[in-house]
Amino acid sequence: MKDKYFKDRLKEIESSGNLRRLQIITNSEKGVIVGNKEFTNLTSNDYLGIATDRHLYSEFLENLKESDLQFSASSSRLQTGNYEDHIVLEKRLAELFHSESALVFNSGYHANTGILPAVTTSRSMILADKLVHASIIDGIRLSQAKCIRFKHNDYRQLERLIQQAGEHHDRIIIVTESIFSMDGDESDLRTLVRFKQKYPAIMLYIDEAHAIGVRGNNGLGCCEEHNIIEHIDFLIGTFGKALGSCGAFLICNRTMREYLINTMRTLIFTTALPPINLKWTLFTLNKAVGMNSRREHIKKISNLLKKELSSENQEIQSSSHIIPYITGSSESAHNAAKELQKQGFYVLPVRPPTVPDGTARIRLSLTANCTEEEINRLIYCIRNLSKS
Ligand SMILES: *Cc1c(COP(=O)(O)O)cnc(C)c1O
Repeated sequence: MKDKYFKDRLKEIESSGNLRRLQIITNSEKGVIVGNKEFTNLTSNDYLGIATDRHLYSEFLENLKESDLQFSASSSRLQTGNYEDHIVLEKRLAELFHSESALVFNSGYHANTGILPAVTTSRSMILADKLVHASIIDGIRLSQAKCIRFKHNDYRQLERLIQQAGEHHDRIIIVTESIFSMDGDESDLRTLVRFKQKYPAIMLYIDEAHAIGVRGNNGLGCCEEHNIIEHIDFLIGTFGKALGSCGAFLICNRTMREYLINTMRTLIFTTALPPINLKWTLFTLNKAVGMNSRREHIKKISNLLKKELSSENQEIQSSSHIIPYITGSSESAHNAAKELQKQGFYVLPVRPPTVPDGTARIRLSLTANCTEEEINRLIYCIRNLSKS
């Protein structure tokens, strides 16, 4: 009886073609096995190939002692769940980013839903890019601040909003991502830093989820690449993507770290990450710093694919390894995904409302595991798609 509502809603979702199902995934030598078929995986966030690198696992396991095997922190960091592993990892992050401090969280989702509510009041103003990630939206919803979303990467509108905000706010936090997850395009970080220098009320909140590991000389992200880390008040990264682990971090100053430890609900009211996992994260972080050849490879195959797509009359906005192949209608995206899957590429359609009407797409996310041959074969298959 009570189920009727939910069953009806599910039917509606299904008839609009948007019903989601959980797939069982197995990693393999070549990529990924889904439903007994092996694919090259073009949906993965394992950008550096760390999560699927058996050699790294062996190296990590060889150096573990029995006493290192702690699979639960059993408590919040504020109670008895704060291990030396947390502190060592945070010290290493601060050292790498040349920052005063760093703070580790259970996930990027915890970070984004927890930081903004903690650092704003009803007198604060949040100016957020229209395309920020769902976790940031949820953080905004949980905060008391007034929020205005500016048109994606429209810095003229953003500056107007800053000026209109005037002096009535205790702080203005500009919230955006460095690489955006759907178009693979980037924000103009240098312009944002200039705004901060021009308008003293501004703080900058940059989510580098898709850039950590992939960009910058040490894989520290786009802020490293542009040499502006010191200007970012809240630099957020996740360990779940290129670093092949789980959890997330904030690069900030000492005051902010202490303030968040005392006020951030998604840090205080949750069981801390398992120590064994923190050890793995420290291990992969240190490995990722030196993975310049993998970063070069990602750049090379990304440029190869983008060059081809632009000759197929695609307007390429991506400046990264996340590359949309826009097909237009939801149906065409669905069919293209099916065809590419038949050809051995695991890809998924992204349809409205996730993306604007008429821009349904296949989202291709390239990783260091993709070979140049595979990308050339993908290009061949995409060419044949647009002919049929
Ligand atoms: C993936 C992602 C997150 C969430 O990070 P998790 O560690 O997976 O919870 C946050 N922000 C952006 C932009 C992301 O892409």
